[in-house]
Amino acid sequence: MEYRQIGATDARGSIIGLGCEHLDGKPYQQVRDTIDAALERGINLLDVFMPGDEVRGNIARALGSRRRDVMIQGHIGSTDVAQQYDISRDMPVVQRYFEQMLRTFGGYIDFGMMFFIDSEQDYHDVFDKGIADYARRLKQQGDIGHIGFSSHNPEIAMRVIQTGLPETMLFSINLAFDLCPADAHVLQEMERGFDAAAFRGIDPKRAALYKLCEQNGVGITVMKTLGAGKLLSAQHTPFAQPMTIAQCIHYALTRPAVSSVLLGCQTRDEVLDALGYLDASDSERDYTHVLGTLRNDFKGNCVYCNHCLPCPAEIDIAAVNKYLDIARLDEDHVPPSVRSHYAGLARGGDACIACGHCQQRCPFGVPVIDNMAAAARIFGG
Ligand code: SF4
Ligand code: SF4
Repeated sequence: MEYRQIGATDARGSIIGLGCEHLDGKPYQQVRDTIDAALERGINLLDVFMPGDEVRGNIARALGSRRRDVMIQGHIGSTDVAQQYDISRDMPVVQRYFEQMLRTFGGYIDFGMMFFIDSEQDYHDVFDKGIADYARRLKQQGDIGHIGFSSHNPEIAMRVIQTGLPETMLFSINLAFDLCPADAHVLQEMERGFDAAAFRGIDPKRAALYKLCEQNGVGITVMKTLGAGKLLSAQHTPFAQPMTIAQCIHYALTRPAVSSVLLGCQTRDEVLDALGYLDASDSERDYTHVLGTLRNDFKGNCVYCNHCLPCPAEIDIAAVNKYLDIARLDEDHVPPSVRSHYAGLARGGDACIACGHCQQRCPFGVPVIDNMAAAARIFGG
């Protein structure tokens, strides 16, 4: 397993985590087998958004003393008042559900996530009706380690990040969502089938959101990595051919600020399938060919695919481009964390010998030589 730091926190999460949603309603033994498979392979990050006592209890029981070996994302405002998944902004109800979660998981939740901030109304409800204050209090009291939130809407998510409150964000990321215009309702698009004709390259607002997270030290954990399975399906894929699990995971893990993808596995075999990513070759992870006829829409913009390697100067071109893209948001105020990530690379843009091999290989016409020079100028090496 590989681990990444989650934003600017001191937590290191497994790059593949477990979204526990599909364990809801399953018998205890199945929950236990799934959790065992995950922990045996080094998964240390679990998302538990489900409000039900039974599924929370089954997960806690399956973890047992291994609770201390994992980090849990628990959601503030996830309820099932009407016997169904529901969102509540009613403080007594919100508190009741979150306190129950705290009791179930040993009095501590690693990441307290303000639940489902997708609309203006959600933003108002969370920040003006006491939920954000409650999250602050939980952190001050030591009941949660860090404050996070979940969203599917890039514009609202940017506003939440600009409050300076969250340290982490659970966001829906996959290639099809990233191609949707920012004002599209991605969950509806997913339900009724993507309109590939509307795809016009990576949506700039989504790309800006990921860069903003990196700039502000907000770590991203990912949901909907597989587009609810639709990206894997020949029938439902919006692309010329379906993607594989490894390609979907790799796409999400190569966005800026992403630390972990959380996959909704419900059996041991599904966990092992997902972890096949760790053994996949570069060509098995490569997702660029699925873009097919959309390719021109990406012209000039790096999608961090690493198709341009090998570089004779041993530059990690995608990584340099990624930090350059973030630095270009505001060249005069490049965050120290981004400078330090860049400085941690074995070779910077200044190592480029302008051989041009990468530009011949890049499917997206990225001016790599210019970019390497720009990175050297901005980062000083
Ligand atoms: S420069 Fe081109 S090939 Fe290299 S990572 Fe960026 S998009 Fe991919
Ligand atoms: S042009 Fe620069 S970055 Fe591209 S392969 Fe050659 S040395 Fe590497």
